[in-house]
Amino acid sequence: MAAMKCGRCGSEKVMPNLRIRDRYDAGVGHDLEVEVEGNPDAKIFKKTHREALRATVCGECGNVGLSVENPEALWETYTQAKDS
Ligand SMILES: [Zn+2]
Repeated sequence: MAAMKCGRCGSEKVMPNLRIRDRYDAGVGHDLEVEVEGNPDAKIFKKTHREALRATVCGECGNVGLSVENPEALWETYTQAKDS
């Protein structure tokens, strides 16, 4: 597997797939998430789909890139909302 390189400075000190902690309640951390509502007009069942954000951070310049683990599932929910 080829080493990842930072898109900003070209360094190979890249740390992929880091969890992003939002806050701590009673010592328990919560991952920051993105959310898509499959049925945004519904009052209760919005068919919400959430995916945890993951960060890729450069250990040289601090550049950060964000991604989700399961983009296909988010996209599916997103397109459902458009069709309805
Ligand atoms: Zn960098």
